[in-house]
Amino acid sequence: PPVSEEAFVSLSRLTVLAGPTAVGKGTVSTYIRDNYPDVWLSVSATTRPPRPGEEDGVHYFFVSPEEFDQLTTDGELLEWAVVHGRNRYGTLRRTVQEAIDQGRRVLLEIDLQGARKVRETMPEANFVFLAPPSWDEMVRRLVGRGTETAQEQQQRLETAKLELAAEPEFNHTVINDSVEHAADELVSLMGLHPLQR
Ligand code: 5GP
Repeated sequence: PPVSEEAFVSLSRLTVLAGPTAVGKGTVSTYIRDNYPDVWLSVSATTRPPRPGEEDGVHYFFVSPEEFDQLTTDGELLEWAVVHGRNRYGTLRRTVQEAIDQGRRVLLEIDLQGARKVRETMPEANFVFLAPPSWDEMVRRLVGRGTETAQEQQQRLETAKLELAAEPEFNHTVINDSVEHAADELVSLMGLHPLQR
């Protein structure tokens, strides 16, 4: 059921969405970005090179390792982490603050390490865990592409198990059974009304 108007007001304007790898965080947050103008999806800085179709300033701010170093030393990042043991990703403090000051609701789609760091500095934020509908479905999504070796798949499943265990650290859990349903639940938790479809 939708949250009452009074509850809307008391909800924090900053929502952190995290969850296991391959659960579909990216899909859900892109859907929200494209359908909810009141939500501002934070654009992170990363040292990862752009994939085909990704635009600088839209999907990420693509920076060099030296530029990322500078952002950290200048205190420009709300949090940052090395993700998948490779590239660095970080949330730009200033853009998040600006969006909050403009009265918009802000969504951070970050990894678990990042979510934990935000909780240390901003415990009043809204922490939402995106969970797979079932363990079997999660295995299917992780293994699905069939491009990894059996050993790599095993590694990813081990990681997924550890990531799933983080759920109790969050204020809310949203099950990603369909992108529309997950997005509706998430925006309700952000104090917005779901789309009329
Ligand atoms: P991808 O390289 O596939 O775009 O993203 C890989 C992972 O990085 C995703 O799990 C995503 O949640 C995480 N990520 C993206 N931006 C940030 C960020 O600013 N901080 C942290 N901690 N993780 C991020």
